[in-house]
Amino acid sequence: MQLSTIIFAFFLSVTGLIVYGNTVITPESIDTLVIAPHPDDAELGAGRMIMNEVTSGKNVAILVLTNGDAKEFGNYKISRDYGATRKAEQRLVADTIGVPSQQVIILNYPDGYLPRLENTLLTKSEYTGQMRSDLDSYSPGSLYTRSRLLYLMDRTITELNPKKIYVTSNKDKHADHSAAYELLEAVYKNNESISARVYTYQIHGRKFTGAINSDDEKREILELYKSQFHTPEYHDFMLKYANFPEDFTEVFFRKGDEFEN
Ligand SMILES: [Zn+2]
Repeated sequence: MQLSTIIFAFFLSVTGLIVYGNTVITPESIDTLVIAPHPDDAELGAGRMIMNEVTSGKNVAILVLTNGDAKEFGNYKISRDYGATRKAEQRLVADTIGVPSQQVIILNYPDGYLPRLENTLLTKSEYTGQMRSDLDSYSPGSLYTRSRLLYLMDRTITELNPKKIYVTSNKDKHADHSAAYELLEAVYKNNESISARVYTYQIHGRKFTGAINSDDEKREILELYKSQFHTPEYHDFMLKYANFPEDFTEVFFRKGDEFEN
């Protein structure tokens, strides 16, 4: 280790800043953390909310659990390239809506496997052939186990110390999405010191009811996820989220939490 690195690390430890790979976050400053199973979920379900928070001076972070690499079973190259594209899209979108790149934390777990991760036994993604996270992930080389993912979620939430957390609903029809909810619930039950209020948003299986209320700014943001507009049907699916208001439900993971508010 070079002397300058040691001095820098010492400076960080003295000032209380946290190091995320090459980046630094002040933990006191995060108001809102949006947990997304895949790149694009945060903006589909909560893009308007994020933009409103940023406009009103709030500090938002996005925690993406997988890199969205479930493209072609057994075709590792195509699936890995697809995941890399989606992660790049996520970073571009976050930058566009005012979420600093160091506050986009991608854990790089395998797309399609969140509900199936074993506690300690390694899972191999049949899309990418990987059993651990990439070098560009928040915690490079993390093994694909449920216990490691829970640890990383706990660590991120503890360090960011957000006031509010948004996560996909347990009613969501995509198995990774309902699993994200259950993983967060497990983190809460294991760590009583986490006190952020939790709100859910639903992507798959959401009923779009009520009047159309087109949000052009949000539509333009969603269109930056170019890899997701494969077919006219998928295009319509994506744009529905810009045509109907966002919808959140507060949830309470611990008994008694609802009486404290
Ligand atoms: Zn998703």
